[in-house]
Amino acid sequence: MRVKVWGARGSIPAPGPKMNRYGGNTSCVQLRLEGGEELILDAGTGIRTLGLDLAAARRVNILLTHLHLDHIQGLMFFSPCFRSGVEITIWGPASPEASLEDRVARYISAPLSPVEVRELPCSVSFRDTPPSEWQMGSATIRAEAVNHRGPTLGFRITDGEETLCYIPDHEPALGATLADLEPEWISGYNLARDADLLIHDCQYTDQEYPDHIGWGHSAISDTLTFANRVDARRLLLFHHDPLHSDDFLDELHATARRRWAELGGDPALVEMGMEGGELEIVPAAASAGVSASV
Ligand SMILES: [Zn+2]
Ligand SMILES: [Zn+2]
Repeated sequence: MRVKVWGARGSIPAPGPKMNRYGGNTSCVQLRLEGGEELILDAGTGIRTLGLDLAAARRVNILLTHLHLDHIQGLMFFSPCFRSGVEITIWGPASPEASLEDRVARYISAPLSPVEVRELPCSVSFRDTPPSEWQMGSATIRAEAVNHRGPTLGFRITDGEETLCYIPDHEPALGATLADLEPEWISGYNLARDADLLIHDCQYTDQEYPDHIGWGHSAISDTLTFANRVDARRLLLFHHDPLHSDDFLDELHATARRRWAELGGDPALVEMGMEGGELEIVPAAASAGVSASV
């Protein structure tokens, strides 16, 4: 499975000269499966540039973790939406409040948008993620609710021998001490267990977190403890705070690697989500050959 990051920022786009290396676009990750199919995780502003790269695509599957604006904002500027003959399926969390289509249409409708969903030239369909595993191309996918604000999913995607877990917005330590909690009480545990690559929320430093308890995001120590508890083999820190500059994120990365080593892990396997970064996921048996390319 190949992974490419098109947006790693959280909450709101944060462009600017001090953000150029990690990038200012919000959550969007592209997966290329062994069978050649592609999946897109979230439709933050990063999906706009990904769309330009998909000029020949006829079928597109987008998995939305939730409908906060930083995960759907790029949809209206995703060029495949404006090509007839393109079939787009958007998967997302169910809600008793309204259908997925109606909830997304609150953004893609007047007065926020110049177009309505029904006016898009592509053929678009909306699907609630099923409660049990389902197959998409060569991949088996599982979606489960995780601890965030509002109905929010994490995804576990297994393709051949390789498993990726994507939980960009997650506060598993809310009201809990992750280090000694029983596994069945840890939000996201079953999704992330033994993942070959875990892409996870790491929005705050430990110093910043006390002012943001309950906001739905993780402090670095909690991200690392979660990754350690689930035995993730490789970790990509994601959903960078819009206030965090490149230099700040370099520091955060160094801290994360030091602490991961203290937890007994290989510091080279903790990486930063970076716009344009590409990774190849390899299964555990071959992990000695992992090379970090981000
Ligand atoms: Zn977010
Ligand atoms: Zn969110």
